[in-house]
Amino acid sequence: MYASLHLAEEALIAARTRFHFSAGNGPVAVYLCDDCGQFHLTSKGKMNDRLAEQMKNGSIDLQKEANWWMDKFKKS
Ligand SMILES: [Zn+2]
Repeated sequence: MYASLHLAEEALIAARTRFHFSAGNGPVAVYLCDDCGQFHLTSKGKMNDRLAEQMKNGSIDLQKEANWWMDKFKKS
């Protein structure tokens, strides 16, 4: 859970750059939880605008590739 919308969006975008999700899977949006008053990620609903934008302009793919190289570098 995340204390602010901004943090939740950062986590959402980070998750999309770190893990491979098949089409229709993985978190796509954030929402304010009625129970705890914090933000959660969700795989349901309309895609988050910031995420959609970053997927469209290719920065998710770029970051994904950068993470892949970073992991490779750390392991070797
Ligand atoms: Zn909650």
